[in-house]
Amino acid sequence: MQKKCSCGVMMTIKLRTVIYSGKVEIDNVPIFSCIACSRSEVIPEVKPDLTGLIAQLGAEPSKGTLLFNECNEWADLLVEAKLNKNLPNSQEVQVLIEQRINMLLDIYILAQGLNDEVWIAEINKRLQQLSGKSLYT
Ligand SMILES: [Zn+2]
Repeated sequence: MQKKCSCGVMMTIKLRTVIYSGKVEIDNVPIFSCIACSRSEVIPEVKPDLTGLIAQLGAEPSKGTLLFNECNEWADLLVEAKLNKNLPNSQEVQVLIEQRINMLLDIYILAQGLNDEVWIAEINKRLQQLSGKSLYT
């Protein structure tokens, strides 16, 4: 969970507003940012969700604001961490992700016990966003 910028400096994690099509503001998108050369890029782990969201908006979106943390577990985790203190560094993010995965696994087991398919699918999606893996095999 660390990235070195092409200028050689370690990048930091930030939340940024991405503006799509000049109309839609997508808030709380996790990015890597370089303090040295101010290059920035979207964190690879959230790219599939972001591109999915943009695809849903289509070519002619109506004006508005979206909260990326409402549809992505990574962004949610970072927004929550930011409420407590400054944005965590890469190692801290790693710890937070592990904690969140453990929490979701606990809920997953609970949902399985209740045979709640919808709930299971939702938790699976959240886990997938964090780990890049699916529990479905
Ligand atoms: Zn740089």
